[in-house]
Amino acid sequence: MTITAETREQVQQRANFACEYCGVTETDAGGELTIDHFRPTIKGGEDGLENLLYCCPRCNQYKLDYWATHPDDPPLWDPRREPAAHHFLELDNGTLHPLTAVGAFTLKRLRLNRSPLVAYRQRKRQQAEEIRLLSRYREMVQLLERLNVQLSVLMQEQRQLLEEQRALLRMLLSARE
Ligand SMILES: [Zn+2]
Repeated sequence: MTITAETREQVQQRANFACEYCGVTETDAGGELTIDHFRPTIKGGEDGLENLLYCCPRCNQYKLDYWATHPDDPPLWDPRREPAAHHFLELDNGTLHPLTAVGAFTLKRLRLNRSPLVAYRQRKRQQAEEIRLLSRYREMVQLLERLNVQLSVLMQEQRQLLEEQRALLRMLLSARE
């Protein structure tokens, strides 16, 4: 059986156009990614949507047709059934730290700490930090604008007070004469 264009599109959209193992998007990769059979066809996997994953060529190349067949074989992380945070912790330097045996095996098998991926995660972190700073900056500008409005109101009030004071003084002086 082959995967129809329609199925392919469904897998692509469901994955948000990103590799379900490493997170690299089509935009990042500069092209379409591949369709992976989580359970390889030669190991009994089917072409149904539940066995298909959107996968970058590099992750696919490292995964190959791995499938735990013996009880001693470590299973591979299934991104469609368990969130990444369950098995990996992303460190500040962009590397992944395994939290489980499945995470440790998948990390090694798919080389999820390969240097371009670490650099990719670092860049994403940096972008998130820049966005955070920019929104903070916008907040400060808005605050400054509000302060300016308040200041001009205060200045106007002060001017009015001064005028009233002057008028009062004039009245007092004229009363003395
Ligand atoms: Zn990948």
